[in-house]
Amino acid sequence: LADRLQSTIQKIKGKGKVTEQDVKEMTREVRLALLEADVNFKVVKQFIAKVKERAVGEEVMESLTPGQQVIKIVKEELTSLMGGEESKINSADKPPTVIMMVGLQGAGKTTTTGKLANLLRKKYNKKPLLVAADVYRPAAIDQLQTLGKQLNMPVYSEGTEANPVDIANHAMKQAKDDHLDYVLVDTAGRLHVDNDLMDELKQIEQNVKPDEIFLVVDAMTGQDAVNVAESFNEQLNISGVILTKLDGDTRGGAALSIRAVTDKPIKFVGMGEKLDQLESFHPERMASRILGMGDVLSLIEKAQENVDEKRAKELEEKMRSASFTFEDFLEQMGQVKKMGPLDELLDMIPGANKMKGMKNLEFSDKQIGHVEAIIQSMTPQERMEPSIMNASRKKRIAKGSGRPISEVNRLLKQFEEMKKMMKQMTNMQQGKRGKKNKK
Ligand code: GDP
Ligand code: MG
Repeated sequence: LADRLQSTIQKIKGKGKVTEQDVKEMTREVRLALLEADVNFKVVKQFIAKVKERAVGEEVMESLTPGQQVIKIVKEELTSLMGGEESKINSADKPPTVIMMVGLQGAGKTTTTGKLANLLRKKYNKKPLLVAADVYRPAAIDQLQTLGKQLNMPVYSEGTEANPVDIANHAMKQAKDDHLDYVLVDTAGRLHVDNDLMDELKQIEQNVKPDEIFLVVDAMTGQDAVNVAESFNEQLNISGVILTKLDGDTRGGAALSIRAVTDKPIKFVGMGEKLDQLESFHPERMASRILGMGDVLSLIEKAQENVDEKRAKELEEKMRSASFTFEDFLEQMGQVKKMGPLDELLDMIPGANKMKGMKNLEFSDKQIGHVEAIIQSMTPQERMEPSIMNASRKKRIAKGSGRPISEVNRLLKQFEEMKKMMKQMTNMQQGKRGKKNKK
């Protein structure tokens, strides 16, 4: 999605004058990009109509930077399509707050139950109880128990013989007795939406009166995800959606359609299988990301979670100033490693998603280890002034790190390209600011 939109945006960005023809062309490209991304066609149609209406209006035609203005409109409309503001978790007046997880089999309910519990404790210092109400697959109970052990959190289960409604009721009592703050009910799924499943879920709902019913949907299923969301939403009082496996979905279409079709907010997104890979959903940032403007805020937030605040600030400044040396590079690599897989981070940096495609810039976490070894084999001077590097120095470094000389060369080149890219980023940002000031 981003690629196609980006080239269109590049075309229109610098335009001093936008004609109706330009708008038409642009909206056509946007429309195609959205359809390609598997966004529901009805949603696309409405979206385009809105953008068009605004784009040929005064707002654009009379502005000094019409190209920018059109992009701004697309971004604003994308944001509102995904729900505008970021939404929070509802909580009960009197604890425990009950959250019910529903969705099809394999959508990621159980995993997300664990992730959510982790987040509630980490971010809000809350005590959750995990409830195994999927009694149809013994493995499902084991899975939740394993997660409970990993997290060191209580899991309520009565085995596979008990009735899910009773389990949920008993779990509520236990949570009250133990003064826990949240009850997270992991329910059963089916391969398809069916009446038995819905009846069971409705019964649980009536008994435990959840404060939130989160529908868990797999983003990779695209249009199907939208259909599933629609039918669950018709039958249950869904309060929000959690979109999982967004790490595997490059198109982002489901994120765009679900809100429009169900009118329920996406509250969280799953970005991987690990327990800390659940993120709040920020419509505005997602819109920027789709438009390729990067997601620096998410990146910084991520840094703050894993690294202390001061460090995160430093990291941000270093990135913006592009004044760093190999010494900083090494230090930051340690920080970056704490933040998670590089691929994911690169997605959040403006322009860096283009970089990922470039062969000589591919990083894997294992390669980071090699890179560290190479930098560690440099002398302090070499780290501060890579320009002094010559053949004999490179040879020495290769030997010291146990990596082939080609790899040393590649790293030097990568480092230069990275510096260049950061410089561009800085210029881009200054450019934006400059324009604002002039106005
Ligand atoms: P359930 O049947 O709805 O309870 O689904 P599970 O929680 O058992 O998840 C099904 C599979 O999806 C598991 O292999 C999970 O590890 C995987 N999974 C869940 N969420 C994510 C995610 O955000 N990203 C990725 N890549 N995998 C996920
Ligand atoms: Mg499950």
